[in-house]
Amino acid sequence: MKILVAKTSGFCFGVDRSIKIANELLDSGEKICTLGKIIHNPLVVKKLAEKGAKIINYPRELPDKSKLIIRSHGISSEIFDFIKSSNIDYVDATCPFVKKIHQIVKSNCENNDILLAAGNEKHPEMIGIRSYFKGESYVFKDLEELKKIVKNYPEIKEKKSLIVAQTTFSVDNWKKCVEFIKLYLHRASIFDTICNTTVLRQKEAEELSQKCDLVVVIGGKESSNTKKLYDICKKNTKTILVESENDVPENIYKNMRCVGIIAGASTPISLVKKIKSYLEMISGGIK
Ligand code: SF4
Repeated sequence: MKILVAKTSGFCFGVDRSIKIANELLDSGEKICTLGKIIHNPLVVKKLAEKGAKIINYPRELPDKSKLIIRSHGISSEIFDFIKSSNIDYVDATCPFVKKIHQIVKSNCENNDILLAAGNEKHPEMIGIRSYFKGESYVFKDLEELKKIVKNYPEIKEKKSLIVAQTTFSVDNWKKCVEFIKLYLHRASIFDTICNTTVLRQKEAEELSQKCDLVVVIGGKESSNTKKLYDICKKNTKTILVESENDVPENIYKNMRCVGIIAGASTPISLVKKIKSYLEMISGGIK
């Protein structure tokens, strides 16, 4: 059995940056709290907790003499304003690519009537993005939802609309939505805000899943970008999603010639290597 590991595996730039910030502070003896889980990977979150990092849900829960870390997918403008006005000691680890979307939305708020954002409306990144638009906003997860919004609010066609995407949105889905927007929303300003890591990982997921009999996708079950990789691979081949080697079944490798491994942006490379070794062991030898 051949095992192919995706070249894009390992932390993305934004996740790596936020984890480094947290580790450096902990190593220098600071007490830190993250606002929500710093990233959507339970093993990494557990490791930081073992070093002393705490998770809080509201800035006002920050204990005395502790530093607050704002996680990579950002927070809403209201919470950010509260943190700044309360003189809370904080480090902003929001990924610069997410910050860029906040900036686009903020600076185009005045000259647009509505915001249409592609993504998951419950995801913290999307909650943050929407908060920078002070008017009406809608979120769609695919072309069907976008069509529904336009059908229910036909006046949108006449309005000036600002269009952005969550950084981890599906590239294929985005293309379909943009085609529709160009046809029906003539006053739309479209900003492609899917981040480069997402584009490359989704491309590799497509290629890998076309070559393999099975793809093991590694990542947190809450992770949006991991879920997208899983969906892409599943279209082409048998696919499983695992958070650690404990989730890897032992008995599905019979008669498989090629197994692929791909990981979400918040999965450390050490875990990818561990799962590769585990697969080598249980498959009983690699060619
Ligand atoms: S997936 Fe992209 S936007 Fe999100 S943290 Fe990583 S580099 Fe930043």
